[in-house]
Amino acid sequence: MKRKSLVCIVLLLLPFAAPAWNGAGHRLVAALAWQEMRPAARERASELLRRHPDYARWRQRQQEADVDYGVFQEASTWPDDIRRDPRFHDWDEPPTPRLPGFPDMLRQRHWHYLDRAAAEPGEIDTRLLTLANTLAHGKVADQVYALPWFLHLVADLHQPLHTGGRDDRGGNAFTIENPYAPRQPFMSLHRYWDDLPGPPWLRGRSLDQALQRHIALPPPAQGDVADWLAESQALLAGPVYPNAQGSLLPLVTPAFHRRAQAIAAARLAAAGRRLGRWLDQLLAPVPRPPAANR
Ligand SMILES: [Zn+2]
Repeated sequence: MKRKSLVCIVLLLLPFAAPAWNGAGHRLVAALAWQEMRPAARERASELLRRHPDYARWRQRQQEADVDYGVFQEASTWPDDIRRDPRFHDWDEPPTPRLPGFPDMLRQRHWHYLDRAAAEPGEIDTRLLTLANTLAHGKVADQVYALPWFLHLVADLHQPLHTGGRDDRGGNAFTIENPYAPRQPFMSLHRYWDDLPGPPWLRGRSLDQALQRHIALPPPAQGDVADWLAESQALLAGPVYPNAQGSLLPLVTPAFHRRAQAIAAARLAAAGRRLGRWLDQLLAPVPRPPAANR
């Protein structure tokens, strides 16, 4: 009885939902993507980001010698940043004034995941295809809006807990005991996975060190959105959930933690390279050779 009520208290103290890979994870994916892009694609991406209403904020926050590269990293966390930004609103709140060129000011929380068990099942896979189409063929204002979302969602799709599975709101309602976070040993499984890329403030030189470790991993096959979704869902059915039992809750053991770190690194590396190759194609398509004379 005592044990049960303690679990309830722990659950009540937990935040309702965690966003996605933390800032370190998203910036790492963007940094990896940048390495895959040709100069023409980098330039096009930077041109679009310079037109974004939050460009000045990104420029101020970034810590790279190459400002374009730093801004590209900062833009990747934008869809999470607007979750707490009063300029934006949720669908059940009164609309806020529109920023120039924006289709609306919705936070679009359901774009970040796919979870068929949830009341709102999410649409990350179809949304990515729509955004890709906008980046290839849309109006400039729509491309400006689409690019930060695109950078963000390719990374989210590689986070297994963003692809549904069990009836636990993507691991947000699954509490674990994590001795690797002594200040907050009880946390949601979602939060545990989000924080695996490193401390959320990671930027500049320390981000570059992490980047080198990820670049050293074997490059992934490109595949497509459906493949990336299937990979995440396969992981979700296997090694994402801890099996060991702690004093109160499922426990993160040293072996589980090592494996989880390796999986997270591989997912981030795959997301970054795939994002870079896709963006390269969308933003700087190689012209087709002229048709032969008949
Ligand atoms: Zn997200």
